[in-house]
Amino acid sequence: MVLSSNNIPDSKGINAYLRDKSFSKLLEYYCGKELFEQVENKFIELGEVVGSELEELALSADKNPPKLKKRSRVGELSNDIEKHPDFIKIEKFAFEKFGLAAMSHRHGVFGMQQPLPPIVKYGLTFLFVQSEFGLCCPLSMTDSLTRTLTKFGDKKLIDKFFDQLTSQDLDHLFQGAMFMTEQHAGSDVGSIDTYAEYEEGNWFLTGDKWFCSNPDADLAMVLARYNKNIIGTKGLALFLLPKKLENGDLNNYEIIRLKDKLGGRSFASGEIKLNRAFAYLVGNPDEGFKQMTDMINMSRLSNGVRASGMMQRCLQESLFISNNRHAFNKKLIDLPLIQKQLLKILIVTEASRSIVFKAADLLNKADKGDIVSQKIFRIITPLIKFRACRDVRKVAGDAMEIRGGLGYIEDWLDPKILRDSHLGSIWEGTSNIISLDTIRALKKDNNLQIFKNFLIDSVKINSEKKHEKHLLSVIDDVFNFVENEVQEDFTSSSRQITTSLYYLSSAIFLIEEGNYCEDLAYRSKISELIIKYKIDKNSPITRDYIDYNLINNLIKI
Ligand SMILES: Cc1cc2nc3c(=O)[nH]c(=O)nc-3n(C[C@H](O)[C@H](O)[C@H](O)COP(=O)(O)OP(=O)(O)OC[C@H]3O[C@@H](n4cnc5c(N)ncnc54)[C@H](O)[C@@H]3O)c2cc1C
Repeated sequence: MVLSSNNIPDSKGINAYLRDKSFSKLLEYYCGKELFEQVENKFIELGEVVGSELEELALSADKNPPKLKKRSRVGELSNDIEKHPDFIKIEKFAFEKFGLAAMSHRHGVFGMQQPLPPIVKYGLTFLFVQSEFGLCCPLSMTDSLTRTLTKFGDKKLIDKFFDQLTSQDLDHLFQGAMFMTEQHAGSDVGSIDTYAEYEEGNWFLTGDKWFCSNPDADLAMVLARYNKNIIGTKGLALFLLPKKLENGDLNNYEIIRLKDKLGGRSFASGEIKLNRAFAYLVGNPDEGFKQMTDMINMSRLSNGVRASGMMQRCLQESLFISNNRHAFNKKLIDLPLIQKQLLKILIVTEASRSIVFKAADLLNKADKGDIVSQKIFRIITPLIKFRACRDVRKVAGDAMEIRGGLGYIEDWLDPKILRDSHLGSIWEGTSNIISLDTIRALKKDNNLQIFKNFLIDSVKINSEKKHEKHLLSVIDDVFNFVENEVQEDFTSSSRQITTSLYYLSSAIFLIEEGNYCEDLAYRSKISELIIKYKIDKNSPITRDYIDYNLINNLIKI
């Protein structure tokens, strides 16, 4: 940490896990004490590099994007992506040291006897992304491809690739990717033209995939039309595309070029032409799209985790700067306007963390077969993808401003976070598409009522009696609005529905966390502010709402 005489605070060297006052208690709550004690040292270790070495590598990789090397020096197609050495060092942290792509699938990571639950992976990702966003894509692709393959692939196919997909050795590791989008088929997945032909027991894919992140991945999940007579998503089967054939030759596809992106510049996204490329069929051909949605949903959640982590970095930096920089003979933190800005950042940042950690908890229960958790997880995934990925855009801009002019300068992480923060709400489904997915999830079975009951139960268990009545009436108000709109099939309000349910849920999860221990009790206060500021639109944060106790307890460090 540098507190220089020239009044420019630099948080470099501060442990990013330890400086975040709520992190350890929240982890303890969601992991349970026993697991928390087993894994906390890994969070401390990662926190140590996030604010120093990892940040330096991330800044360097951002300035040195990967390059496509189409041909070898003897003129043969190579499809190689040259990664900057600093990006490879980041890969080593993520895939090797912290086993982030392996920990959900096999034992052995951190010496554990069994795979680790989602909260550990998402908790570490939340921390990791506070320096590096780009690698989180290949990481999540590898992790979610392994999940989808293990869920739907046949045993022979799983056995063939499982060890490499979950390896903690970069030289042995197979990374994953997902190729769906075509020039005319982005949101409209059902119009995909890429087709699959079956010949002598093998499948071959032909088509043009327009956006392919991690394009030189060893394995990619690809959607292709296996029956040209079936239109829409029904005719799409899921295939596993290997980069290399069994004899070691390159598979028949070509990376045409790499995209020159606004953000996420450290990793490659490209265009791929499939020229009768060999691929393995995954699961049932009639269920291709349905199977792929499992991978998509995991990726959507991962995007929410990243958005939340980036917001936390913005919050922590803003707090640090405000506590250490002076203007007009005062610390910034003592200026009412700065306090108000900080509170605005804090509220949405902590809301996102609560709902993201809750989602990890629900996923754990859902994967163990709990039906209610499956339904709630299905609903809150698009809520998170929609709102957290939009909130981070604003938070990134506001935090940049708190650093002042330096926030605009590339020596610091702020410009990179600002660029990176805009990707989450575009890929894996734009905001409109995601909000329509919320409506789809709510309309299925009796999901709306089940979701409402879930929130009501949480309030009854966790809120203080004096607040219960008010909270139940807020739930009623929001659900009355949602029920009316959903019944009308009024999709133009799908975005408001998604936002209202997101803030309502996170406000209730914050109360639950606040109940856990004295250190987290302040979270009920944040919940109150969310309800006033984000749900009751008539009460925007004005000076009256500034809670000086909250500021003293939380913001002054
Ligand atoms: C950096 C980057 C990496 C990517 N990596 C991958 C990858 O690895 N694999 C992959 O398959 N894809 C990838 N994508 C593609 C991405 O998922 C799509 O770009 C995205 O889904 C949007 O599709 P589109 O670009 O065709 O836009 P369109 O679908 O044409 O959308 C244009 C606009 O129309 C709106 N719209 C469309 N349909 C509706 C509707 N029914 N109602 C209301 N509004 C609607 C959208 O919200 C959007 O604002 C990547 C994209 C980017 C930017």
